[in-house]
Amino acid sequence: MTFVVHGLPVARGIAIGRAVLVVSSRIDVAHYFIKPEQVETEIDRVRMARNAVAEELHKLQASVALMGPNDAPHELSALLDVHQMLLQDEVLTGGVKHWIVERLYNAEWALTTQLEVVARQFDEMEDEYLRERKADLEQVVERLLHRMKGTAAVLAPTPPRRKRTAEDDDHDPTANDAFDAPLVLIAHDLSPADMLQFKKSVFAGFVTDVGGRTSHTAIIARSMDIPAVVGARSASQLVRQDDWVIIDGDAGVMIVDPSPIILAEYGFKQRQGDLERGRLSRLRHKPAVTLDGQRVDLLANIEMPEDTLGAVKAGAVGVGLFRSEFLFMGRESHNLSRLPDEEEQYQAYLRAVEGMKGMPVTIRTIDVGADKPLDSKSQREDNHLNPALGLRAIRWSLADPAMFLTQLRAILRAAAHGEIHLLIPMLAHVSEIRQTLSLVDFARAELDNRGAVHGPVKLGAMIEIPAAALTLKTFLKHFDFLSIGTNDLIQYTLAIDRADESVAHLYDPCHPAVLRLVADTIAECRRQGKGVSVCGEMAGDVAFTRLLLGLGLRSFSMHPSQILAVKQEVLRADTTKLEAWAQEVLESENPAAALVRV
Ligand code: PEP
Ligand code: MG
Repeated sequence: MTFVVHGLPVARGIAIGRAVLVVSSRIDVAHYFIKPEQVETEIDRVRMARNAVAEELHKLQASVALMGPNDAPHELSALLDVHQMLLQDEVLTGGVKHWIVERLYNAEWALTTQLEVVARQFDEMEDEYLRERKADLEQVVERLLHRMKGTAAVLAPTPPRRKRTAEDDDHDPTANDAFDAPLVLIAHDLSPADMLQFKKSVFAGFVTDVGGRTSHTAIIARSMDIPAVVGARSASQLVRQDDWVIIDGDAGVMIVDPSPIILAEYGFKQRQGDLERGRLSRLRHKPAVTLDGQRVDLLANIEMPEDTLGAVKAGAVGVGLFRSEFLFMGRESHNLSRLPDEEEQYQAYLRAVEGMKGMPVTIRTIDVGADKPLDSKSQREDNHLNPALGLRAIRWSLADPAMFLTQLRAILRAAAHGEIHLLIPMLAHVSEIRQTLSLVDFARAELDNRGAVHGPVKLGAMIEIPAAALTLKTFLKHFDFLSIGTNDLIQYTLAIDRADESVAHLYDPCHPAVLRLVADTIAECRRQGKGVSVCGEMAGDVAFTRLLLGLGLRSFSMHPSQILAVKQEVLRADTTKLEAWAQEVLESENPAAALVRV
């Protein structure tokens, strides 16, 4: 039966495919596709873990048998029997094998996927005793996952392949023998590290239960340039593995089990979207200049050095924001050292510089914390705090000077090979500015002492806390340029957690207070002849291009996938006409309405 699930639109377009459910587990589980030749190894890993857990349970059973009734209740022994039974259950083991062989999931992913399938069967049972066995199954799976830790294969991001079934032909309007159904990802939540892993795969779209428009999961979805919906509440509960779904990233809805008529309609919309993209791609080599001759820099936001490929392809004239924290995340589940060392970071920054072929690269120092934990363990540890207001970004770096100096040395060394701008996130206090600048000097001195080659950098600060936007003179005294992080600036100005879908309707880039802070920052930088750009999601949203141009902005940094649409707006704009109008919008009580009127 067809039904619709509503969420927030975060990345445009239509995706039609089979659902791949990613379930969250209490254990940090890596999700990746294996190569066909690794299937046997993955099956072996599960088999070995199962044997080890069986042995473990057996030992426990033996020790329980030796205890008296006062030390070990009778139920404990019965429970261990149940665990043994679940461990050997054909539905679990056969299902895991199915996901590995048919979908090329790594062993852990296959295990958590099958856990979800079986857990739902338990949920539907009439008998309360049997229903409660779900918790036992979860414990057994956790034991298996623990056993598998440290035995993971090297990541092999290859496209998934699954065998075609007769069922596919019934549903799919474009059926043909060589067809492999596109896959769409459905999850309760995905950590940014998980998203990064999926970025290397070929999902056609994705939906999560949680998340706001500028949550980091949404940001990476946008950078993957696939239709995405977040904040869809119970989507992952309503969809089953392999269901056919349509993701409408424009409207923010997911249609489950669509009828042939709905499929045909969305197939048409999808083709329209492809045509529009084709049309925009002709603008790739056109300089971004307004009708009145103003040159506008359209820069790229990237998460990994390899993203520079897409940035250059999209016609970016540099990187305006390299979110370096992605080099630091999700390493634990892949058996890597907790943090990348200086050499590893240097190589990564160098690859970014080389990838941009002489164009400037703005590297932002690590910004972990809030909804970007280093790994799932630190996420759990931080749960009792309010992480968005806690030890995040520069605060985290200043709390761990050795880690920060390592990163600074790596960036300064890479600066010997190209134009690097060093950007500091979340500064608010002059004391933080002073400490940061003296650590930059110190890192340089360390390199000198070592005789290591390093290069000059332009120093910039992010304006993403209202306190920073209200003390611009201090910032401009110390920095060469400023970059406005509207995602956080909106969050902190309006007291709205950007990752929380329950308050997403109040997350408003058009709030007069937000626009005032953005406008004043641009104006003050221009007055002092300092560079200023916007690198939050507002920069890539065509609804704001004309307003930002009217406010004097000439440097926009966004996902490569958004560059051509923004360029189209720039090419159609006349800034001489936009200036007065932008001031009107700024003065308006309801800027959103004033924006639409133009
Ligand atoms: C921002 O806050 O606008 C920004 C660009 O940084 P991030 O989204 O990584 O917090
Ligand atoms: Mg930010």
